[in-house]
Amino acid sequence: MAQVDRQAGALLQRERDLLAQRGYEADERLAWTKYVALGGGLLVAALLASLIATMSLGVRRPLGRTLEAMEALGQGQVGQRLTARTGSDEFDRLASGYNRMADRLAQAVDDQRETDSRLQAANADLLAQHGALEARGQVIERLGEMAHRLQAARTDAELAQIIDCFVPQVLPGVAGALYAHNNSRNLLVRLAGWGVSDALPENFGPDDCWALRLGQGHVVLGDGREVACRHAVADAGAYRCEPLLAGGEVIGLLFLQGIIGSEEAFRLAALGENIASALVNHRLQRDLKEQTVRDALTGLHNRRYMEEALHLEIARAARAGSPLTFVMCDIDHFKRFNDEFGHDAGDTVLQLVGAAMREHFRDGDVACRFGGEEFAIIAPGASAEVLLPRIERLRTNIADLRPRQGNKLLGPISLSFGISEWHPPFGRENAPLIADADAALYRAKRAGRDRAIVADRLAA
Ligand code: GH3
Ligand code: MG
Ligand code: MG
Repeated sequence: MAQVDRQAGALLQRERDLLAQRGYEADERLAWTKYVALGGGLLVAALLASLIATMSLGVRRPLGRTLEAMEALGQGQVGQRLTARTGSDEFDRLASGYNRMADRLAQAVDDQRETDSRLQAANADLLAQHGALEARGQVIERLGEMAHRLQAARTDAELAQIIDCFVPQVLPGVAGALYAHNNSRNLLVRLAGWGVSDALPENFGPDDCWALRLGQGHVVLGDGREVACRHAVADAGAYRCEPLLAGGEVIGLLFLQGIIGSEEAFRLAALGENIASALVNHRLQRDLKEQTVRDALTGLHNRRYMEEALHLEIARAARAGSPLTFVMCDIDHFKRFNDEFGHDAGDTVLQLVGAAMREHFRDGDVACRFGGEEFAIIAPGASAEVLLPRIERLRTNIADLRPRQGNKLLGPISLSFGISEWHPPFGRENAPLIADADAALYRAKRAGRDRAIVADRLAA
């Protein structure tokens, strides 16, 4: 029994040792497993960390660049581009997308800039046009004012004064002159001049101007490529001649020095029209007035004009104490021309006498047809003594004429003259002076005609 107990105890002991052995091994295995698990965990953690670091580096750089570029874009710098080779497909796509957007934006900015500059140019253009229109408006206003004054001008001197005043306002800085045809249309006479030198001719023939010969504006730039007009002074350089037309007829010429630009040309056209119509109007008025003071047959002043002129000259002589002589003359036996050769022959004789009178008296003298075959001459500043030889010359020249009517010789023309010199007892009225000359004429007729007789001086 005890053996059995001992054997059982040994078995039990072995069992225990075995178990202890196994427990130890189990513990060892457990510890090993723990080590392995720990090492694996660390490795994974290290791998993860390095992966995260790599990934964060790979993300942060391109992301930073992208943000930078976007920030710059936000500030209006559209030139920056991203590289599309980051190694990351997503970032490459993002970079390409960004670049395309930046390209489009840059293009849009360029377009905008171009549009802006075009807008600015258009605006400047508009402003300039507005300025030009405003200036034109002012010019048209000045032209209207000028036209208004020109219509009211009574003499060529007044016309010149208005033109000298207004034209420099319409064409600032452009010197020039206005020429107008004289009555016989064989000369262009300078009516006005602004800013031009004295070398500019006072008058010239129509053939001396290419504008008048061609009937259109003539522009000379002074470069030798265009023929210069004879009337333009040799050193005139660039100039422009503009004919003034009214009703298809040339009535004058505007001469302008320098190069005329398009704006000036516009003003010149308006100016030319205004001046031309004013000149025509003025000439018409003058002609109408002339018709009322001139005798149509002889072209001499009529009696009405003579009466007015004599009145003025008497007043002047009385004031200044200067001599004034009045002459009455009558064609001798004039009725015979009418009776023998007809009324037309009589008219021819009257015209011949009228022409001789115009020729023989100086500018200040007034020769008139008093009526019928009677004529009168007012000679201010001349005494009867001074005038008598001139009257004698007229008388003999007319006597030498051989008037004809067709192939018929009309016979000599003789005239009788009565000459009277104004003196204070005659007073300011015309009648005493006329009556005195008439009385002298009557004496000349009675004394046998064809002579001149000076009235006796009345006793003071
Ligand atoms: P005397 O030497 O005395 O002056 O004689 P006269 O014949 O010149 O003078 P009279 O007064 O007898 O005649 C003038 C004539 O002049 C009468 C008139 O018919 C004519 N007469 C007047 N005006 C004109 C005109 O415009 N044309 C023409 N042809 N004759 C005119
Ligand atoms: Mg008579
Ligand atoms: Mg007579």
